[in-house]
Amino acid sequence: MKTVLFPKILSKIGESEYSLFDPGEVDERIFLEILKKYELAPEKEVLVLPYGEFNRVGFETRCLYFYLACTPEGKLNRKAEILNIEENYKNLPITRIVSFGKCNARCPYCKRDCQFINEFGNPIVAIPVPLKAIAQLGEGAVKRNEIIRFSGGDPVTYPKETLALAEYFMVRHKVKVSIAHNGSGPKWVEKMLPYLSSAAIDLKGVPEKMGKIMGIPERAGEIMYQLSLQTQKLISKSGILLDVRTPIFGDTTIEEMIRLGEIICKTNNLEYTFWTWRLYKPVKGIDWPVPTKEKTIEMMLKVSEKFLICGWELEPNGKREECFISEKGELLIKQKIQQKKRF
Ligand code: SF4
Repeated sequence: MKTVLFPKILSKIGESEYSLFDPGEVDERIFLEILKKYELAPEKEVLVLPYGEFNRVGFETRCLYFYLACTPEGKLNRKAEILNIEENYKNLPITRIVSFGKCNARCPYCKRDCQFINEFGNPIVAIPVPLKAIAQLGEGAVKRNEIIRFSGGDPVTYPKETLALAEYFMVRHKVKVSIAHNGSGPKWVEKMLPYLSSAAIDLKGVPEKMGKIMGIPERAGEIMYQLSLQTQKLISKSGILLDVRTPIFGDTTIEEMIRLGEIICKTNNLEYTFWTWRLYKPVKGIDWPVPTKEKTIEMMLKVSEKFLICGWELEPNGKREECFISEKGELLIKQKIQQKKRF
């Protein structure tokens, strides 16, 4: 496999065949001290999903539009108010994504190639990267005022490693990280709470459908559902911004979404919670029904009449559309954007 280098922004660590986005310098003393606590070494490797065709690590970013819906105190705004996205765009937090290459679920529609696993259960495209390189990537992100986000695969598969890294960034720079997690690890999340600025947690469907959606036995799916609720509660009740994420399929019904809306509202501190609906996009080899945007919007409006629904996101045809809706369907923010790449 070939390593491609663009000298100004890329760095190659050791002999590994990957490139790392604009890294920074790690404070060895603090890093080693914290790793020791977790019985880890800087050379300890984690599997990471590279971005794009080449083994590019840390190239993926995400703009946290939901911050436009926040009050100055950091809670979600309940008043209908349209903010000018152009004026505010530059102030929005950007996350630098660390996409781990392992997961404890097997959703057949998983993003990128996660569904293709080898005999050890790992996605075949994941590459090993030492913890020190992840710390260097994070250092670069902090330097650019970005938020480091541990994402999937799933960061719960590296509980000690993610805790150690989060603690390092807190001790060294007083910054918090963000996570995107499938909701299965409330024990891990509880330990992560002091280091979190926001979290996206999956609630992939009603309990009886969770197993099928996540590619695991039905009973395990029901357990995942309960774990996700526990995880959400820990986050939102700690005053950390919580994005509950639900995939929408062609056969997702309004009744199912109303049930989920009820349980999300009952479980969480709604001052810090919003709900993202993500449209399932067809994946090769999977014949699951594809949702239409029109029917989904119809469902959204009905659900938001009944419950405090704060946000959703549609990603049809590679375009992203984000809307934030307050109680009774008032529009907070609506923005259509082309998926942006920030290299
Ligand atoms: S939980 Fe997320 S990362 Fe894991 S298999 Fe499902 S979609 Fe992929």
